[in-house]
Amino acid sequence: MKLVTFQQDGALIPGALTVRDGRDVVVDLARADASLPNSVRGILEGGSSALAKAEAAATSATHVLDAASVKLAAPIPNPGKILCIGLNYADHAAESGQPLPDYPIVFSKYSNTVIGSGEAIILPRVTDKVDYEAELGFVIGIGGRHISEAEALDHVAGYMPINDVSARDYQERVSQWTMGKSFDTFAPMGPALVTADEVGDPHSLAIRLWIGDEALQDSNTSQLIFSVPKLVADISEVMTLEPGDIVSTGTPPGVGAACTPPRFLRAGETCNIEIEKLGILSNPIVAER
Ligand code: MN
Repeated sequence: MKLVTFQQDGALIPGALTVRDGRDVVVDLARADASLPNSVRGILEGGSSALAKAEAAATSATHVLDAASVKLAAPIPNPGKILCIGLNYADHAAESGQPLPDYPIVFSKYSNTVIGSGEAIILPRVTDKVDYEAELGFVIGIGGRHISEAEALDHVAGYMPINDVSARDYQERVSQWTMGKSFDTFAPMGPALVTADEVGDPHSLAIRLWIGDEALQDSNTSQLIFSVPKLVADISEVMTLEPGDIVSTGTPPGVGAACTPPRFLRAGETCNIEIEKLGILSNPIVAER
């Protein structure tokens, strides 16, 4: 199932992105089954029974909207945690001039950064060094603490593309990356949260990023240094993971800062990330007013 959150009359509504008669549609899950929780995060909190009800509601013959007419938000618009992994692809560490980590580098973004596919990345007026990072994101379904690697994938609800947008000057000004990573709109994600049953092995997915006709990143999640189960185990050793928490697993090589000359995001462009089985995350770039 492809869970989405869409915007309608100022409200955020859970939906399922699916295909009917050859066209992409979004089923309004809140109306198709009024007993469902009224958010994707709520559905995840409801566990397997809520997910099964959402699956059934997604086959509804009514409350079906043309996908092209639907304005998406991020699948989880207000996550409790957004944890990001630094330097999780060996060739990206090399292009960044950084040694390979022997323990995951974890930093945080906040919910002010979250936008959905189709929404604009705003270039802050204080920096002209805003970069893209295509990443595989995963979302926690069943929470927990001290989750073992062997059981980790049972705690992952699904996956989605994430763009870990980064202002390189702010990122590198001090040793902590938080400020450079946390401007408003710097975590586009989606279009959908694709449930784990549709994805299978998260470590064999093609991942690529392009702007216009420029192919800038092209790799595969098979190249991840720290796997999804390893990350769940290491993070949950420290903190309780909860339904809807998001982990962005790091970016492959080809970021703009490593291009010669550097290639930063410009107003008027559209940044696209495609991950196999997960769809395309597409965001226009606009200047801060
Ligand atoms: Mn990143």
